[in-house]
Amino acid sequence: MRALIQWLLDLLYPPKCMLCHRLLDESTHLLCGRCGHDLPKHEGGLRSVKYFVKGIAPFYYEGHIRDSILRFKFYGMQAYAQQYARWMSVPVEAELKGMYDVISWVPCSPRRRWARGFDQCELLAKALAKEVGSDCLATLKKVRHTEKQSRMSGDAARRANVLDAYQAYRPDRYQRKKILLVDDVLTTGATISECGKILRLAGSGELVCAAIAAARHNNK
Ligand SMILES: [Zn+2]
Repeated sequence: MRALIQWLLDLLYPPKCMLCHRLLDESTHLLCGRCGHDLPKHEGGLRSVKYFVKGIAPFYYEGHIRDSILRFKFYGMQAYAQQYARWMSVPVEAELKGMYDVISWVPCSPRRRWARGFDQCELLAKALAKEVGSDCLATLKKVRHTEKQSRMSGDAARRANVLDAYQAYRPDRYQRKKILLVDDVLTTGATISECGKILRLAGSGELVCAAIAAARHNNK
């Protein structure tokens, strides 16, 4: 019965590669043979983000990775989270080991979560925590709906857009704990810096961050 349902689903929604979007033979894979063998280079390196000791992102926010993240966020491709987490775990293990006690995420607003049916950064953080064998904890909540950062032009507008949009959630659970905060994409870093400030003010230990991809100009 399950095989029949899967067959019907594959017929209605043919499985496609999460990177190049070519049709796949089997729905059990997320990547086609070519993308699986020839992954985009882990090239994002280190990021400099205010309030964070260190940050990593395996990829630049360009090309297939960018298209794939847009499908992940806006077209319900939650299954991608696991593969992103696998890619992120490589630089996390190499660069951030010992620098965090717990993993958390930049939350989206309840309104957006309701519209999408999931919080993409929460999915990422939980998948990453599983990948590296760490605890995962909600540390922030979004209390104000904001315009998409991609619609804002200029650093000042982006900072103003996220000001007072987040609050600490149950800070009693992370006093003096070092946190690895997960976001999907780092562009100017305005959002994650605001979150970092709130976590430090609420009593967290030092912070590091990780994203799937970062804008190239943010490279340091
Ligand atoms: Zn592919």
